[in-house]
Amino acid sequence: MTDNNPTQSGGEGYFGQFGGRFVPETLVAALQQLDTEFNAAMADPSFNAELERCNREIGGRPSELYFAKRLTEQIGGAKIYLKREDLNHTGAHKINNTLGQALLCQRMGKKRVIAETGAGQHGVATATAAAVFGLECAVYMGSEDIRRQALNVFRMKLLGAEVVAVESGQRTLKDACNEAMREWMSSVEGTHYILGSVTGPHPFPTIVREFQSVIGREARAQMLEIENRLPDVIVACVGGGSNAAGIFAPMIDDTEVAMVGVEAGGRSMNPGDHASTLCVGQPGVLHGSLSYVLQDDDGQTADVHSISAGLDYPGVGPEHSFWKDSGRVNYTYCTDDEAMDALIALSRTEGIIPALESSHAVAEAMKQASKLDSNKIVLINLSGRGDKDCNEIQEILARKQ
Ligand SMILES: *Cc1c(COP(=O)(O)O)cnc(C)c1O
Repeated sequence: MTDNNPTQSGGEGYFGQFGGRFVPETLVAALQQLDTEFNAAMADPSFNAELERCNREIGGRPSELYFAKRLTEQIGGAKIYLKREDLNHTGAHKINNTLGQALLCQRMGKKRVIAETGAGQHGVATATAAAVFGLECAVYMGSEDIRRQALNVFRMKLLGAEVVAVESGQRTLKDACNEAMREWMSSVEGTHYILGSVTGPHPFPTIVREFQSVIGREARAQMLEIENRLPDVIVACVGGGSNAAGIFAPMIDDTEVAMVGVEAGGRSMNPGDHASTLCVGQPGVLHGSLSYVLQDDDGQTADVHSISAGLDYPGVGPEHSFWKDSGRVNYTYCTDDEAMDALIALSRTEGIIPALESSHAVAEAMKQASKLDSNKIVLINLSGRGDKDCNEIQEILARKQ
């Protein structure tokens, strides 16, 4: 929610000037409790052991680090590796976060979870975790997204979740976030809000980054094991920024590793045609934290577009805003068409149909690899699989003919 009611500024929960906790008073106590519980959990060996067990037995971790030999040969430059988050249970990195937060919820003695979802991927991952832990679950989703993502709506219901239609605004992800936050205010005693990316008020950006960091910890160890060194470049797509933060954070102090975040360039760089928040946005408050935001001239949150529903968001995590300004991570974008071409290239060379979101990272990695020598290494975070996108892909390819 764009609520200009700062209850905290400076210090904890900030990444440089970004982050914070811009929420109504009623949520402050719940966020403080969450912060305390999260810190205690992370310092508790039995919580970490349980998290590791869940990631393994339910999530299917560790995920493979895969050398994309045929794609590498086709590009003719650096060696390309894929971190295979597409092989996780429910088909993307989202489950890493929802299992962790469901465990936190249990630890706090709460019996119900809520979540926001856009394309439905985070909703499905939340409904899955809720089913495993026997938690009641309600997922807030814009009615426009409900119409477009019928299969994921059905999956959530099959998993026992209630899907609540949100009718405000553009009736998409931003509106679902507003509604979930509003609902949380009235139910916060017994309900935990499983936020889906490294966005929102403190401590969510930190919690989600930590639960997703299993990606980067594994990738770092696997890379050292296979190649005896770290990659030269890591490339990840950025919607809210959770899969990117998950692979970047554990190597952020390895200064020899370059990092690239890829946003949705959509149809064009005209307002409303893309979702390149870090590339062309301005600092502002959205959904409880200060970060880069896509805004119009009046400071209203802009409309966004992307071929991939998971990147279609006008905000981004505050830590990415910090990494951008500090220069540690380079942010760029690729277009709908480039993502589609990359999706086809990976499908045909490696037999892997990537998610449209992940295809943005593949497209940029192909560009980077082609400019580098064969002794260099490019690592792609393959955040999810493309099965969910096949209807969409089919329609787009049919239109092009
Ligand atoms: C949701 C999603 C994303 C975008 O979310 P981030 O928080 O930026 O990671 C990217 N890839 C896939 C496969 C997704 O489902």
